[in-house]
Amino acid sequence: MPGVKINKTYCKGCELCVRACPMQILEMSKEINLKGYLVAQLAEPTKCIGCRICAIVCPDVAIEVHTHGTGYALFEY
Ligand code: SF4
Ligand code: SF4
Repeated sequence: MPGVKINKTYCKGCELCVRACPMQILEMSKEINLKGYLVAQLAEPTKCIGCRICAIVCPDVAIEVHTHGTGYALFEY
């Protein structure tokens, strides 16, 4: 099963990942990070297909997807 990690520190609550996920399994949580933003969370991890679209659209590189034994984090600094 693919693994999705959302870095709550980087998230700015833009909801792009929520709208882009083809499985509609991402959602905004009620948790507020240190920047004052509501952060995204993975609601149903077992339904994730590992497509990495969430990681691609995230403007703040807050999402990392692990699938087929490989970790994908776009634009690593
Ligand atoms: S990898 Fe694809 S299916 Fe999984 S949470 Fe991200 S956008 Fe959704
Ligand atoms: S796209 Fe990135 S910054 Fe925007 S809500 Fe999702 S994880 Fe947070």
